[in-house]
Amino acid sequence: MKRRHLIFSLLPSALFISCVQKKDSEKGELTYPLEITTTVGMIADVTREISGDHAHVVNIIGEGIDPHSYTATKGDIDRLNASDLVLYNGLHLEGKMGQVLESQKKEGIVVHAVSEHLLGSDYEIIGGSEASDPHVWMDVKAWTLVVKEITAQLVAFDPKNAADYHANFKSYQAKLVDLDSQTRRCFGSIPEKNRVLVTAHDAFSYLGRAYGIDVRGIQGISTESEAGLKGVNDLINYLVSENIPAVFVESSVSDKSVKAIIEGARAQGKNVRIGGELFSDAMGQAGTYRGTYIGMIDHNVTTITSALGGYIPAQGIYGKLSKH
Ligand SMILES: [Zn+2]
Repeated sequence: MKRRHLIFSLLPSALFISCVQKKDSEKGELTYPLEITTTVGMIADVTREISGDHAHVVNIIGEGIDPHSYTATKGDIDRLNASDLVLYNGLHLEGKMGQVLESQKKEGIVVHAVSEHLLGSDYEIIGGSEASDPHVWMDVKAWTLVVKEITAQLVAFDPKNAADYHANFKSYQAKLVDLDSQTRRCFGSIPEKNRVLVTAHDAFSYLGRAYGIDVRGIQGISTESEAGLKGVNDLINYLVSENIPAVFVESSVSDKSVKAIIEGARAQGKNVRIGGELFSDAMGQAGTYRGTYIGMIDHNVTTITSALGGYIPAQGIYGKLSKH
């Protein structure tokens, strides 16, 4: 058992070494801006923060789209083929893109799963190496480690601009440190008995662990599994008995199961309302504040805190959320 765990934990670093070796054998000059392709918006945004003008970042899976079930289009594959560097989350988030991403590696493109290195680190991945929970971005501190990994990838690929990448990381890291402490402060203002987050799918376990919120997803970790009837009934009974004021819908997941919960509670004479829409696996519209990682977290923290009876200004942590 122990040996098996060791093999799994060595895997990400073995992949990393093979990428680095390949680059060493490439003697050609890099052309700028570097063409980087990412799978999800959370990775695209932080990659832009770190790469600055040195790279042109194109993201594949846009707002409101579920990465668990996304399959690559012909256009996506063309874009991937034209990339210098492909950055994806891994930990089975992009469950249906595995083969496509593997084939890019064979084409000699540097392809890297930015969250998978955490399996071999001190940070504890929920579910371990065999049933990993991919939603790492929900814990700002963990996502900072991923941003650091993205920085390391950029430095390895383009050492000439290493100083810029390191400087960009430093200034962005300071923003994430603040975001983490603001998040903690806001959730801390929610009355203790209300610190329960019920959402459509299990995307918020890292948030729950990091910030002391009891998280209950209706579906399993992947949106591919249907919610079991017994689980739904147990959850309704829990909401009614604990007097939980609100449940939440997600931008990239159907709200069918959440509505069933609300109906079930109503049948027991309890009004549970929809506390708002959260960003789980996709961010807001590109080019808007909610379409950035910080804006996404701010939106979620603001929505959860106000619906569960905590204190937060209507315009959010940084005053940048306009009213719905
Ligand atoms: Zn998810």
